[in-house]
Order: sequence, then structure tokens, then C-alpha cells
Amino acid sequence: MRFSSYNMVCNIDNKRYVYNSISKSVLQLQIGCEIDFEDDNLCDVENLFNKKQCLSLQNNGFIIEDDFDELKSLEYIYKKNFFDSSELTLILTPTFECNFSCPYCFEAPQRKTKTSKNYFDVLKKYAYKNFKNYRHVELSLFGGEPLLLYSQFNDMLEYTKKLSGQYGFDYSTSIVTNGSLITENIVDSLIKHHCRTLQITLDGGKESHDKTRKFKNNKPSFDMLIRIINEKLEKYFEDSNSEFYLRINLNNNSVMELKETLLKIKKELRKYIIVSIRVVYNTETYSNKNKNTIDELKEFYDTAASLGYKLSNNRYYNRSCEACCDEKVFYITPDLGIWKCINTMSLENGKIGYINENGDMIIDAKRMLEWYSAADCFDEETCVKCKRLPDCFGGCILHKSVYGKRACTPFDMTSLSYFYD
Ligand code: SF4
Ligand code: SF4
Ligand code: SF4
Repeated sequence: MRFSSYNMVCNIDNKRYVYNSISKSVLQLQIGCEIDFEDDNLCDVENLFNKKQCLSLQNNGFIIEDDFDELKSLEYIYKKNFFDSSELTLILTPTFECNFSCPYCFEAPQRKTKTSKNYFDVLKKYAYKNFKNYRHVELSLFGGEPLLLYSQFNDMLEYTKKLSGQYGFDYSTSIVTNGSLITENIVDSLIKHHCRTLQITLDGGKESHDKTRKFKNNKPSFDMLIRIINEKLEKYFEDSNSEFYLRINLNNNSVMELKETLLKIKKELRKYIIVSIRVVYNTETYSNKNKNTIDELKEFYDTAASLGYKLSNNRYYNRSCEACCDEKVFYITPDLGIWKCINTMSLENGKIGYINENGDMIIDAKRMLEWYSAADCFDEETCVKCKRLPDCFGGCILHKSVYGKRACTPFDMTSLSYFYD
């Protein structure tokens, strides 16, 4: 037997850990341990351990059979998932309008994009022709602020429910919202339409949040969002199929600030809340250097865990900026464009087609192929040799597509939260 090629020795907070990026298992090394867990050429490693240790190391993926091809198995699983055509996710983005005015909003430059008058009618035609071909359809509500158009979204969800009854496919929804427009009726409707994930973002502590995530009229939103989380989401929390993500954007915040924020949420609700800690992304219109370090991030995670929150170990979210589209995921923009990534729309690399008046997807095959080539990290020598491949899968596809090279997603973003699994 030998060590997995995906064992990584990490020094965090003066402690040494071995982390396996395939199994996501973590092992803390005793002081003085001299075994080189990263040496995948070492033979007969089972002799270094007693039987019980060996079994546990094997079960957790640190030790593997000599002839097991980890890379090939990874590539198989990745591509099987990439080309899986049994599920469809449409990220509906009918508007880039929002009632907030966050300075880093990547959609701000697109605010003036007009919503096609036929947006939802065309979408229904597409749904009628195509949804029956899938085992599962997810309509993800995105924006701008999706709740500005909730009645249209709700109508689309009702129509999907009807088709689902007629043709026997499953459907679900999910929503990324700033949270300010959530009402009990909306929560009921989200539950009715099988909402799997709801995400609300806070920017660090009250002070930093109210500076950046404020309403268009400059009014602060922190207290209002805390109130909504504490008072309006109880039914949603109790729905066992639904997950609630509290995304906390770091922008040079202290552990104390974060703790104060987390303490504001009722103790009994925390067990339902998955905390996802990220940095504020720089966008076309916003550039700020976040100085929070990996040791601090560990402290943030420790604090959230000690207060009773769950920590995000969503493999899809952890990969990059949580919206990367594989084969079966498409954004539908206000003009009925089909995009794989809308984070920088001035770069049209992510635009692969549109939906026409008849509800047919017209795909630009050349663009689609270019996007797939940029996504295919198994074609990249550095990625193929990288121990973080199973967490990062080649990083931002748009970056590779535009600049021809990979942007490695940092370890703390892709991997650290698995330490709390
Ligand atoms: S809440 Fe979201 S969509 Fe609205 S301005 Fe802020 S980042 Fe943009
Ligand atoms: S392609 Fe890059 S910018 Fe676009 S969603 Fe993926 S990680 Fe984000
Ligand atoms: S992009 Fe960088 S970190 Fe990600 S798999 Fe490739 S080499 Fe590794």
C-alpha cells in the first residue's frame, strides 16, 4: 500500500495536520511525528502503523492500494458529473435591478439591461418542450434582487409544478437574495416549491455591513436582516429538505466583529444555519485588498462552530465563486441570453447562446466548446499534478478562458471548512 497522492501536510495555528483532498478527511499529527504522509512513492506504508491505525487511515483515504489510479477515478467522477444530462439547473436572472447598492456588485454595470417583455412566456415555452426530458429540474432565483419579481417567479414555479405533475419529473428551487423583501408568504411559497437552498449575505459586523450592504436610499440593512432571520424564517428552518446559508463576506473584519454578528441570531436557530465565510470579491467596479489571514479564518470558523452553527462544506460552493456552471447549468439573463458565467459580462466568453421566441435554445457550438476546454482541468499539467485538484478542479473557468491560464483558488477557500466536517 502507499500514501494517497492527495495527502497534504498543513501547518495551521502551530498545529500540523494531514488533509486528504479526495476524502476531505483530516488528521492532526502528534508533535515529533516524522512520517512523510505526502510521499506517494513510499512502498509498504502499512508497516509504519499498527493494524487499527492502518484500517482507519485506509478508510479515510490517506492510504490506498498500490494499483489504484486516483487521478483516473477523479477524472471519471468529474466528467460523469459534468456531462450528466439527467438534471437541469436554470439560474433565472430576469433583472439586474436591486434595492441595495453594494459597491462591489458585479451586476451594477448591467443594471440598464432591459428585461425582455416575453421573458417568462418564452421560458414557459422552453419549459413545456424540455423539462419532461429531465429527471430533475431546478429553477434558481437570482438577480439583481429576485424578490423584486417574486410574483413572476412564483407564476413560473406554479407552471413548473403543473408540468411536473403531468410529466413526472421532480423540481426544486433555490434563491440567492439580499433578504430584505422576505415575507411569510414568500417563505410559504418557497417551501411549497421545494426550495433547497436560501442564501443571505452579511458583510462582517454591523458597522462594515451598513457601509456596504445598504439600500439605494442609503438606509442601513443590518438590523433588518437580523430581524428577518430571527423572525421570518422559522418554517423554512423546520423544513428538513431546505438549507439556509448565511454567507459572511470578510472585508478586513475582526473575530470580535464576526462574533457579535453571530451572537445576534437566536441560539435555538443556529443549528439550522450553515455559515459560509468568504472574502468580498473584487469586480470590474470594486477593488479592495482583504487582509484577513488563514489563521484568522480558522478562528472565524472556530467561533461559528462554538456558537452552534454548521459550517459550509458544500463541495460545489467551495470550489470557486460558487456559481460555476457545468454542462447542465445555465444562466438566463434579462435579454434571454444563455451564459455559463455572468460575473464579468463585459467579457462575452461565458455567453454561449440565447432562447428564441419559440422557446428553443440556440447554442453557439464554438463558444460552448471553448468553455468546455477552459473547464477541462484534466488537460492541464499543473492541475493534474496538483494535490488540491479534487477541491479546486482548475479554479475559475472564466479566468482560464480569458487569460489562457489558471487562477488557483486559495486553500482557505476550497478546503479549510472540511476541517470541521
Ligand atoms: S444585494 Fe446583491 S445584487 Fe443587490 S446590489 Fe448588492 S451585490 Fe448587487
Ligand atoms: S467562471 Fe469564474 S467568475 Fe464565473 S462563476 Fe466560475 S469561478 Fe466565478
Ligand atoms: S488551478 Fe491551481 S490550485 Fe486549482 S487544481 Fe489547478 S493547479 Fe491546483
